[in-house]
Amino acid sequence: MHNHFPFILPQLPYSINSLEPYIDEETVYIHHFMHEKKYIDTLNSLIEPYPQFYLWTLEKLIRDTKCLPSQIQQDVRNNAGGVYNHYLYFNSLTDKLSQPNGKLLAEINNQFGSLYNLKEQLKASATSLFGSGYAVLAKNKKGKLSIRQCANQDTVLGCNLMPVLIIDMWEHSYYLKYQNQRNEYFDNWFKVINWDVVENIYNMYNFT
Ligand code: MN
Repeated sequence: MHNHFPFILPQLPYSINSLEPYIDEETVYIHHFMHEKKYIDTLNSLIEPYPQFYLWTLEKLIRDTKCLPSQIQQDVRNNAGGVYNHYLYFNSLTDKLSQPNGKLLAEINNQFGSLYNLKEQLKASATSLFGSGYAVLAKNKKGKLSIRQCANQDTVLGCNLMPVLIIDMWEHSYYLKYQNQRNEYFDNWFKVINWDVVENIYNMYNFT
């Protein structure tokens, strides 16, 4: 990803109809080309008057929001978070079957007992979220996994945690196909997770 201003809409690593029937084409189209793009356009318009922030990475804009001019802090927080969360969400989906392996699977078994238990706990977190936000599988500096909820477009970046997998629980992610059936959306989202991407993030993400 081009990780500083001007931010650009990333290309999906699959075609927009290839997550069918689990996540429908119309939802992917609107979610990616309209919702995600709006966060990118808005973030660019917020940063554009301030060349001193043109080289700030997305992560730095999120972590160091308090160092920005006060009149753009809240909007940058919302929109940089939106850009970050949507990239993570869309990039960790696939039309190919995959399973967690290696160190990631070992840590899942260590923390949750099994992949099934992780799924049930993440599902409980996602479906109990009040309002719009995300359920997040995060890791700490030692590689320990935990589950968090993030409201709105918040992230866990400010808590010395890195998100390795997130599910978007904003209604725009599922409402066209699933209406209020959040359990069904979660179960079908879980079938199209790209565990190879999740494992790469788990293994490679550093905290610099
Ligand atoms: Mn979304």
